[in-house]
Amino acid sequence: MIIFDKLFKPRKLPTWWCHFTDSHPVIPNLVAVTGMILICYSLAIIISTSAKHGNGQVVETFGAVSKSKPLIEKAITLRSAYHHFFPVEVRNVVSDLFGNLALYLVVPFLLFLEFLFPSNPSQPLIGRGFLQDVIWYFIDLPLALLFLFPVIGFLRNLFTQHLGFLILDSSLAWPVYLQILAAMMLAEFFTWFNHFVRHKVRTLWFFHAVHHSQKEINIFTDDRAHIVDLIIGQLLAFIPFFIFHVSNIYAVSIIALYKPLHNRFIHANLKINLGWLGWIFTSPQFHRVHHSSDPAHADKNFGVYFSIYDHLFKTAFPSRDVYPETGIDDSRFPTEDKVRISQLPRNWLLQVVYPFVQVSEKLQGSRLFIKLRERFRLRSDRNDSSQTNIAQHKEPLRL
Ligand SMILES: [Zn+2]
Ligand SMILES: [Zn+2]
Repeated sequence: MIIFDKLFKPRKLPTWWCHFTDSHPVIPNLVAVTGMILICYSLAIIISTSAKHGNGQVVETFGAVSKSKPLIEKAITLRSAYHHFFPVEVRNVVSDLFGNLALYLVVPFLLFLEFLFPSNPSQPLIGRGFLQDVIWYFIDLPLALLFLFPVIGFLRNLFTQHLGFLILDSSLAWPVYLQILAAMMLAEFFTWFNHFVRHKVRTLWFFHAVHHSQKEINIFTDDRAHIVDLIIGQLLAFIPFFIFHVSNIYAVSIIALYKPLHNRFIHANLKINLGWLGWIFTSPQFHRVHHSSDPAHADKNFGVYFSIYDHLFKTAFPSRDVYPETGIDDSRFPTEDKVRISQLPRNWLLQVVYPFVQVSEKLQGSRLFIKLRERFRLRSDRNDSSQTNIAQHKEPLRL
């Protein structure tokens, strides 16, 4: 019962604890950074072992770690049966849904951080907003994965055929970590620009607004992304990995494994700004300002992994100690606080439909649409009058 209250109900932190963490911000920063480094390190081992032993096959990784022959043989038999019954698309989805070790480590760790250092303590650890975003996660992830694997192969072919001159051949001689770092820095610039455009172009904003609509920003809010917004947002992210010769296994692993790790961290309800590291990396404070419902914070802090481009292009909000409320200024958006928990799946559907309704309303108000409608009306009026004439002409004949 106590655990239920701690997880699902708003909490009140002891005053002494709030004073202590506020006067020693280095403590939450240190706990968060240490935990994230340990998780990243364990992920790096998994990724490099998978890269050596074929396209992320769990059994090969298991075989590399375990020395027991009978165990490995059993695992191979099980894998053959599994491969026999399920096609590769299904296996990819299943392995990334349930075999994503980062998720198992990250979620408990971030909930633990939220328990100790919340930005808004009155927000339950598992509230209505959290549950709505979990629904987004379970529906969006299979769609994203089905899109991710075929598209990365398709884009690499397209890129090699038409933009091959951009590939930096000298990067082949670089160590893997340097290739990855260079690719991530360039990818971040593309992501910054892409994010900026999705805020400024009204039609694209309607799809991105779904992500911004969360009032209880939480560790699953990154998954609250419309599939159209997701596709547009991911298109440029792969190109730098091709330019710097980063192999598919590393590119997919970074995007599919590191992305949920970092993005869950920056969306967490945490009073953490990462201290001086916040000048390089994005933090929960930095991204909370990006989600702010206060117009003073509009169109600020576009960075996803790094904050350097926002500092460079003057789009960073100057204060690093503000923790504003979040959400969008549109009362017509179907927020989850208006419905019962049992209605959340239906509400998800309304949230998916929301941008299409906005775009169609915008189209109906556009000059082109009004012109087309007038032309269509004129034609139909003409048709009507000619029909009437025919009818009038025919009627006497019938009489
Ligand atoms: Zn945004
Ligand atoms: Zn966000």
